Amino acid sequence: MAEVELQNISRKYKNVTAIEDIAFTIPNGEFWVLVGPSGCGKSTILRTIAGLESATEGQLYIGGQRVDSVPARQRDVAMVFQNYALYPHMSVAENLAFGLRMRGADSAAIGQRIERVARSLSIEHLLERKPKQLSGGQQQRVALGRAIAREPQVFLLDEPLSNLDAQLRDETRAELKQLHARLGITTIYVTHDQTEAMTLGDRIVVLDRGRIQQIGSPQEIYAQPANRMVATFLGSPPMNILPATYNNGQFNLNAQTLPCPEAIREQLQPQNGQGFELGIRPEEISLSTNSDSTEDLTIHLDLLEPLGRETLVRGSLPNSEVVLNFYAPGRFGGRRGESVGVKLQRDRLFIFDPKSGKILYPLTND
Ligand code: ADP
Ligand code: MG
Repeated sequence: MAEVELQNISRKYKNVTAIEDIAFTIPNGEFWVLVGPSGCGKSTILRTIAGLESATEGQLYIGGQRVDSVPARQRDVAMVFQNYALYPHMSVAENLAFGLRMRGADSAAIGQRIERVARSLSIEHLLERKPKQLSGGQQQRVALGRAIAREPQVFLLDEPLSNLDAQLRDETRAELKQLHARLGITTIYVTHDQTEAMTLGDRIVVLDRGRIQQIGSPQEIYAQPANRMVATFLGSPPMNILPATYNNGQFNLNAQTLPCPEAIREQLQPQNGQGFELGIRPEEISLSTNSDSTEDLTIHLDLLEPLGRETLVRGSLPNSEVVLNFYAPGRFGGRRGESVGVKLQRDRLFIFDPKSGKILYPLTND
């Protein structure tokens, strides 16, 4: 187990900056998730830590040791890729043992270790099979097991569940979390899936276009996103974003108005005619009970997705492309094409700068 520290790491290819100024310290034993859209630099960071890629700038420390020029095989990290490659001619047991044999462990110790790992991943009945006799999910477990068997100082996982079907992915995700709780090995997990990030991470690093957008616990990032990208990336369905213009204590949204809460006015000091983006999460919107309330918005129903307990409503502001998603009760009788009134929980509004996307409200003190 070891702390992992990145100091201002950048990786430039000829005319592409894959990652820029990446800095964070992962305390010993924590589970961190790097999340962001495809191409944002997640794999590059992980490969740099593993030593498969070298940074063009910055320094890397594992367990307090500078490792920038230490070859990958001497770094005591284990990496699992999306396209895990098991050795096809070896049995599961031999695959699990491979890394240990390479390091010269004795066979009694290897046998015990493999048994324990196989049990923890529920693959003990598969030890004699060859990879091609396994399902995709079983193969993935073996790949994880091979990495675990080495008991490395640091685990690096690059989208390890993305080849699994939905149910197996949920199960394996839960198992991974339990496994981490048991082994306590510092883990860095890369995914583009916001659910995986929220459910797995002690902390989440949100990346976009090669740069860190925000680092925090899942709860912090959800409650206090640093900008529009983070706000709309984490959470499903994503936070609704409504373009609005401020005028005399109100926000104008496409011919409708919403009173601007006092707290927002105080902090924002908005000018008449100033443009903003209002953010509101789906769970802060509900159907109006009183249709002529001045605080409500009228929306157009575009699509209704009954989910049993609730109905996911996909709507829009009339005569606009502005989308508003929220949940109605499971028995909601609205129909596509109709208009309904909705109430926004106005003390849960976020305000963003429409140009930079930076959060303007609420702001924390730190
Ligand atoms: P992610 O894993 O988040 O999808 P990557 O780390 O793989 O993203 O890639 C980040 C960026 O760096 C992308 O724009 C990608 O095209 C670029 N990139 C990655 N590897 C190379 C390479 N060998 N040569 C040039 N550009 C690369
Ligand atoms: Mg990748």
